[in-house]
Amino acid sequence: MATSWGSILQDEKQLEELAKQAIDRALAEGMLLRSAQNPSSSDVVTYAPFTLFPSPVPSTLLEQAYAVQMDFNILVDAVSQNSAFLEQTLSSTIKKDDYTARLFDIYKQVLKEGIAQTVFLGLNRSDYMFQCGTDGSKALKQIEINTISASFGGLASRTPAVHRHILNVLNKTKEASKILSNNPSKGLALGIAKAWELYGSANAVVLLIAQEKERNIFDQRAIENELLDRKIHVVRGRFEDVSERGSLDQNRRLFMDDQEVAVVYFRDGYMPSQYNPQNWEARLLLERSRAAKCPDIATQLAGTKKVQQELSRVGLLEALLPGQPEAVARLRATFAGLYSLDMGEEGDQAIAEALAAPGHFVLKPQREGGGNNLYGEEMVQALEQLKDSEERASYILMEKIEPEPFGNCLLRPGSPAQVVQCVSELGIFGVYVRQGTTLVMNKHVGHLLRTKAIEHADGGVAAGVAVLDNPYPV
Ligand code: ADP
Ligand code: MG
Repeated sequence: MATSWGSILQDEKQLEELAKQAIDRALAEGMLLRSAQNPSSSDVVTYAPFTLFPSPVPSTLLEQAYAVQMDFNILVDAVSQNSAFLEQTLSSTIKKDDYTARLFDIYKQVLKEGIAQTVFLGLNRSDYMFQCGTDGSKALKQIEINTISASFGGLASRTPAVHRHILNVLNKTKEASKILSNNPSKGLALGIAKAWELYGSANAVVLLIAQEKERNIFDQRAIENELLDRKIHVVRGRFEDVSERGSLDQNRRLFMDDQEVAVVYFRDGYMPSQYNPQNWEARLLLERSRAAKCPDIATQLAGTKKVQQELSRVGLLEALLPGQPEAVARLRATFAGLYSLDMGEEGDQAIAEALAAPGHFVLKPQREGGGNNLYGEEMVQALEQLKDSEERASYILMEKIEPEPFGNCLLRPGSPAQVVQCVSELGIFGVYVRQGTTLVMNKHVGHLLRTKAIEHADGGVAAGVAVLDNPYPV
């Protein structure tokens, strides 16, 4: 997958000049993060880390990822409505994983009371890597699907201009024109706007749940701005604000003070450290409400790694999506090897295989946000420790995807430009809206390419490992 700028990576002087231009263009385009020192304020900002050049992505795989996104939307939506499946799938996990158990408790409580919400909104991002076969062939393999707080749809719309700029500086105008335009935040906002409209209260607002310390606020603002252009107002609030000022009326309409809320969009609440007892109470209040939650608690559970692993079992997709054999085939083609670690023979065998060939597997707990998975020697130690305990059911094992590395130059604030061997992860943003049992919107709305040095097994952009990038179709 060679590109015509590979040789420039050797020219230190030219790289330095290009990096300066790229960084200035990135800042001018609004590819911004708040500073790590002061994440509560926009007084001082930095550029979001990115690659100097776009990275090669096989165009057939890019097309395949787009083509399967609507299937993934339907699948997530189907799982979220299937309480028997969720209960069975998560039963062993919630015995040993307190966080998933807490989410599941809320789910059960809401089910018992009866779901007040009638409009359902999914904003997700399905992530992939390109498995490289021994013959050099590439295959699209899903890493995971994010059903809560899938980020970088805003900043991803700013990166094409930066890479086009660099290629134009190099007189590579033909190459520059191959960089795809991309605006996920617009599509995400259209989904929120649709849910807001179907909720049907002209004065109601969208409540965006976020922390005050939020480096990635410009990514979120991109969506807020799109909504305001449609005359839909967004109010930002923390879980703490919900506990202090949130309430439900007798029809379980949600209010913040006197302001009715039509849609709750979570950009927080996807990892245990983001909850204290007060925040759990606030989450429950939001879930009980009539407002369209993005995601509702069932959809968050549908995005767990345990659910992903169970979906790969023979016959399961067919059962969840009856009469849709083509969708099932498209979905299954993207699945990597996924293995349950539940107590029993099947789990024992998976552990034995991982211990025999640790380089081929990843051990994953039920966590989001990067930096939680275990690889290599760490995975071996964890498996040795876990293998005789029921705790192992709170993890899954996954085949490790091995993409073909390529050279690129990573730009990060405060660090010198770094030419390294890299691998990329492609995400496709999906949006769907359901009213009652009728699906009224199902789309893909753009992509995100993140690239990292091969020395890092795990981690995304927020975790400080990966950087923003654009696919260069090859
Ligand atoms: P998280 O929810 O923390 O983002 P992921 O499953 O996306 O968890 O894993 C985090 C990162 O670890 C991914 O972005 C990817 O770089 C790497 N990773 C995860 N699964 C695999 C895999 N099966 N093969 C290779 N790398 C993986
Ligand atoms: Mg991930």
